[in-house]
Amino acid sequence: MEIKAIRGFNDILPQEIGKWHFVEDTARNVFHGFGFSELRIPVIERTDLFARGIGEATDIVEKEMYTFTDKGGNSLTLRPEATASMARAYLEHQMYSFDPVAKVYFMGPMFRYERPQKGRYRQFYQIDAEVFGVDNPMVDAEIIVMLMHFLRKVGLQTLELQINSLGCRECRPRYREELKRFFEKKTFQLCEDCQRRLHTNPLRILDCKVEGCKESIANAPRVIDFICSNCKEHFARVKEYLTVTGVKFDVNPNMVRGLDYYTRTCFEVVSYDLGSQNAVTGGGRYDNLFQEIGGLDIPGIGFAIGMERLISLLPKDRTFIQTPHLFIATLGNEASKEAYQLANELHLRGIRTELDYEGKSLKSQMRRAGKLNASYVLILGGDELNQGKAVLRNMGDKSQEEVPLKDLATLLQSKLPRL
Ligand code: AMP
Repeated sequence: MEIKAIRGFNDILPQEIGKWHFVEDTARNVFHGFGFSELRIPVIERTDLFARGIGEATDIVEKEMYTFTDKGGNSLTLRPEATASMARAYLEHQMYSFDPVAKVYFMGPMFRYERPQKGRYRQFYQIDAEVFGVDNPMVDAEIIVMLMHFLRKVGLQTLELQINSLGCRECRPRYREELKRFFEKKTFQLCEDCQRRLHTNPLRILDCKVEGCKESIANAPRVIDFICSNCKEHFARVKEYLTVTGVKFDVNPNMVRGLDYYTRTCFEVVSYDLGSQNAVTGGGRYDNLFQEIGGLDIPGIGFAIGMERLISLLPKDRTFIQTPHLFIATLGNEASKEAYQLANELHLRGIRTELDYEGKSLKSQMRRAGKLNASYVLILGGDELNQGKAVLRNMGDKSQEEVPLKDLATLLQSKLPRL
């Protein structure tokens, strides 16, 4: 029986991986520039961490976690997101004792048992960045500026930043009650999930995409009208700091975030690059998370970018496929041995070199070099080889020149701009 990958779990093939490397490298460069360091977290954590950190009444915890019992009887879960694990690591290693402020990021696969469809997988990749230990609105703006800078650097142009404030543990309960009262009058219009959310987490109803629910959401009370004066002040400062840095934003009073731990600032970036709306990334402040997972009262803010979605939005005119710098085409055994040695020397210098392993005709080797999209072909054989020379063909403009083999590496290095 042929064994295939599990539904919702994707291979990323060599012809695709260039885009991933580009996005990951750009993220690293940008994040390092903003003073962030990588914090690598395990794939598996105790189930409790997510149940308490993300919240029992969230879709993730209610129905999407890959949870299993290990041989020791412990309930473990494949990480469905990174923030809770990052916060756990910050506490566990007392990172605050070195410096109260930690700016950390992580990239890697997350696991959620969702119904697989285009853009929604069971294993998907996220890029996460978090700042722990500061509740100054300056940091809210700083992390948003970093996010927008990164998205522009990878080539996303028509971006719209939407922000909102979700209030804090002082003012949110009042809004929650108000929302509950409002939806109780419309119970019959709500989908089954939202009828349940009405009792467990009414804010989540605002996130629902079911038509009937969307209609009843239209006139729902808005959190922004219920936030306390401290939250208002915080939100005003965030907007001010964003304006100072020239980052444009829209306040979207209907935006809530799916996870329980968010407080105050929340944000989403929508891209119109493909003509339709696309939330590329979302994030926000979570000043209650650390207490939930049994720690100190430490504030935090962060974002998670869905990599599959981001990659699908990359400019189409850029090529990310890694092609050979040089293909060595050979005529005869002697030339083949020489090609092996040359290729070896070139590999050590980082010049991507391919050669023929099958004794194919020159014509067929040239065809393969073309198919691989090699930048240059070295034609090795005959009299030139005895004289230590070979013909180097530029596959772009089709020009040819005779080159001394001893100078080949230096010559190629000067011709290939990115080496
Ligand atoms: P969340 O952690 O739910 O706020 O999601 C953050 C981002 O991760 C989203 O904007 C999506 O781009 C991406 N994402 C979430 N769930 C999935 C999934 N099942 N498959 C692919 N991408 C996802």
